[in-house]
Amino acid sequence: MNYQGVKFMFIEIFIVMLLKFIIATPVSRVQMDIREEAETFKEGNRPSVPPWAQAHGLDKFEGDIKLSKNVAALVTEGIRKKKPLKDRGAVTNKIYQWSYGILPYEIDSIFDNYPSARQAIWDAITEVERISCIRFRPRTSEQYYIRFIRGSGCWSYVGQVQINGGQPISIGSGCGFIETVLHEIMHALGFFHTNSRYDRDSYVTVKEDNIMQGYEGNFQKYTHAQLDRLEAPYDMTSLMHLPRYAFSKNGFNTLEARAGGLVVLGMSTVLSEIDKAQLNLLYSCTGYPSCYKAFGMESFQILDNQITASSYKQYYEPHQARLHLTASVSGNGAWCAGQNHQQGEWLQVDLGRRKKVTGIATQGKMDYFISAWTTNLKVSSSLDRYTWYPAFSGKMLSANFDMNSAQYNEAPTPFIARYVRFEPKYWYNEICLRVEIYGCDA
Ligand SMILES: [Zn+2]
Repeated sequence: MNYQGVKFMFIEIFIVMLLKFIIATPVSRVQMDIREEAETFKEGNRPSVPPWAQAHGLDKFEGDIKLSKNVAALVTEGIRKKKPLKDRGAVTNKIYQWSYGILPYEIDSIFDNYPSARQAIWDAITEVERISCIRFRPRTSEQYYIRFIRGSGCWSYVGQVQINGGQPISIGSGCGFIETVLHEIMHALGFFHTNSRYDRDSYVTVKEDNIMQGYEGNFQKYTHAQLDRLEAPYDMTSLMHLPRYAFSKNGFNTLEARAGGLVVLGMSTVLSEIDKAQLNLLYSCTGYPSCYKAFGMESFQILDNQITASSYKQYYEPHQARLHLTASVSGNGAWCAGQNHQQGEWLQVDLGRRKKVTGIATQGKMDYFISAWTTNLKVSSSLDRYTWYPAFSGKMLSANFDMNSAQYNEAPTPFIARYVRFEPKYWYNEICLRVEIYGCDA
């Protein structure tokens, strides 16, 4: 995703929105929302907010997900222990996945009366099978299976919960859309909402004042095993991301991108490329593209000696240029260029061998005294450290606008690199960076 272009677009949208805001009084806005909610429940009429992200028919605390005791224990344990970032990839627990990626399933006969909802279920199943190695089989005698029911609202358990009588996925009134069924199937396959990732505060802000009372739990963070383990970039376009207005009591945002309140969150009607990649990674699907994995700046899989720079400021050595690193006994948690901050400084990461790079994330320096970040940078790649090629079509990338927000830039064309070089072009106060690089083996 190219945020630079998007930002310009947002300025235009902002002016239009501002005019609209001046014209519309708060009262008429609320009335409009009520009308939209009523229309949501007409079968076949796509709602303005996904039905799974609305309060109707859903569990107050968890929204459209239900957690089995095992999964609940897993996620709350993660919270209690406050695991350090670099250990977060450690937990793997295959029992919450469907073995061999096979999901036996049944569709309740009540859907005979709701053919469009049944069609949406079939379409979603077909889509998951098209983009991954997951396979659905009509249930014969399997003990554990998915059962599509017409319950109250749209909801699902997270992962396989091994209950008798079929693990329900509710496709209730107003839920009969392929994207809603896909969303609920993704839960059943083991995915939480993207905005529950432990690192979401670097990307989005929760607006607590706007959340409907009792629904605060939907904005919880988890340090759960499965999403963390996949180490994909934070994906605001994910089908699994809550939209900006989810569980809002007043029509205002409950969740906002740190880059600005007008950045669209969720609201996708298809699985994003990163959703697909994560699914294929979780189920070890071979032969399906899955190229959005962190190479290990954050997890320390990339070693200190693989990170170099043109110069550095004392106590801000290159090896600290790791996304989400904070000040500790081992350093001040960022790379900063030497004293004379000027053009031509660079940070360089050796990926160890040739890799295919699909995206990068950057952050500034977290500091209690002098905040500093890189606002724009260029990225280049090399196979031998001597010949460098511009990456990202040679474009200057929008990097950061404060010290802590992380900004993800997806490469318009993936590129092959052993070495990736970041060249700050504009910055605030000083040249400082924390980065992560995403991709796969070349
Ligand atoms: Zn959900």
